[in-house]
Amino acid sequence: MNQSTPGSDLVGIENATILERDNHPISRKQISPNAVRVLYKLAEAGYHGFLVGGGVRDLLLGKSPKDFDIATDASPEQLKSLFRNARIIGRRFKIIHLRFGREIIEVTTFRAPHDSENKIDDNVPRRRIQNQESAHSTAGMILRDNVYGNIDEDALRRDFTINALYYTIDKFRILDFSTGLDDLESKQIRMIGDPAERYKEDPVRMLRAIRFAAKLGFTIEEKTEKPINELAHLLESISTARLFDETIKLMTGGDAEKTFELLRRYRPGDYLFAPTFRALEKLSGPPCKLVELALKNTDGRLAEGKSVTPAFLFAALLWPVLQLRLEAQKSNEGNQHQLFQQAAQDVLMEQLQYTAVPKRFTIAAKEIWELQSRLMRDNKRGIEGSFGHPRFRAAYDFLLLREEAGEDLGGRGEWWTQFQLGDTSQIIQRASTEPDPAKKRRRRRRPKPKTEG
Ligand code: ATP
Ligand code: MG
Repeated sequence: MNQSTPGSDLVGIENATILERDNHPISRKQISPNAVRVLYKLAEAGYHGFLVGGGVRDLLLGKSPKDFDIATDASPEQLKSLFRNARIIGRRFKIIHLRFGREIIEVTTFRAPHDSENKIDDNVPRRRIQNQESAHSTAGMILRDNVYGNIDEDALRRDFTINALYYTIDKFRILDFSTGLDDLESKQIRMIGDPAERYKEDPVRMLRAIRFAAKLGFTIEEKTEKPINELAHLLESISTARLFDETIKLMTGGDAEKTFELLRRYRPGDYLFAPTFRALEKLSGPPCKLVELALKNTDGRLAEGKSVTPAFLFAALLWPVLQLRLEAQKSNEGNQHQLFQQAAQDVLMEQLQYTAVPKRFTIAAKEIWELQSRLMRDNKRGIEGSFGHPRFRAAYDFLLLREEAGEDLGGRGEWWTQFQLGDTSQIIQRASTEPDPAKKRRRRRRPKPKTEG
């Protein structure tokens, strides 16, 4: 292992402010061992690898990073031949995923600025890595995003200054090419470059600014904040699939409550949750309280290392929307079950125009809603049907949340809690011998079975 690889042979490094090992708190032990191994393997092979992004930012803040990203001067093809577990992903810009069991380390090759092809022939001596295969499409068109650059250029293509800090195993230094270290100190989310231009390049950065502000408890620096409301409409051009992915990052980062509050305050939030925000304006009381509690609950679960499902989250966030719709159709005649089904379907379809919630989650959210009335039933079929349902646990949690939010459900949550603590088969057995008046009424109304022709 060649630990003394001098980092100074890397073009662009001369533009960094360097924080020596003694002047920062990051120790190798805090970094994922897999990420450390990748850094050493890159160095052994003669490349430069750096920990970058949330990994460095969060460690400097004393938080534990969600994942570890690495930036390097090795090209995707070189990475592919160096790591057996490498998978190239991404079409426009190739990213390498290194899988170690459940952990994925994302490795990206240094990127050049957008107008790099105009700069390639300039007089500055630069060691550029150019991927011949991917720099040109079959039509001979230059794929701008696949032109690789130097570390300082890579830094300036990142979104916020605090996300553009690099950690190297070469003397365990931290490199800052903008004002990331100062901004971490003064708790500011500051865009690198001209904020409006950078939002136009990628409107999702507006949501990212909100996400980091909530997650880190930072303020969005004035110039970075100013265009956010004016340019929110640019999010219309972002696919609903990417907006769903971003929504999940926003809501499952452990600070859903704070994030949701900021999303309500800034216009980009409307491009994710307009139906919910509208319903929250119109309603008051339990359905609104339920949203608040669900977000608190989500943060609490994540803090305990428990999982959260987008199905439950969307069931809760869209609950006020569903209530409004049910209220509007209250006087409608007809099969109540079908009317409910239609209302639930409409609410979910409306949300899909904003975020492409995968079908398995919309189906589960709908089941959680449907089970709410089934959980109220006292008869054997109702109890068995709910308890045996794959969504029982989520629906029961939802019921408890509704009660906690102030709905009077006649103590049904507690009944189900006791039910699960007791001998369930005996309770179901007993229920079968106690006629349910609701069931009786339904029986009388049930039409005669059709005779087969
Ligand atoms: P976390 O992983 O905690 O959500 P992160 O900062 O690591 O935060 P990632 O989405 O993992 O965010 O991205 C890794 C890094 O890639 C970022 O820190 C940033 O430097 C860069 N990056 C990600 N998305 C963008 C973007 N849309 N525009 C510019 N740079 C980006
Ligand atoms: Mg990350």
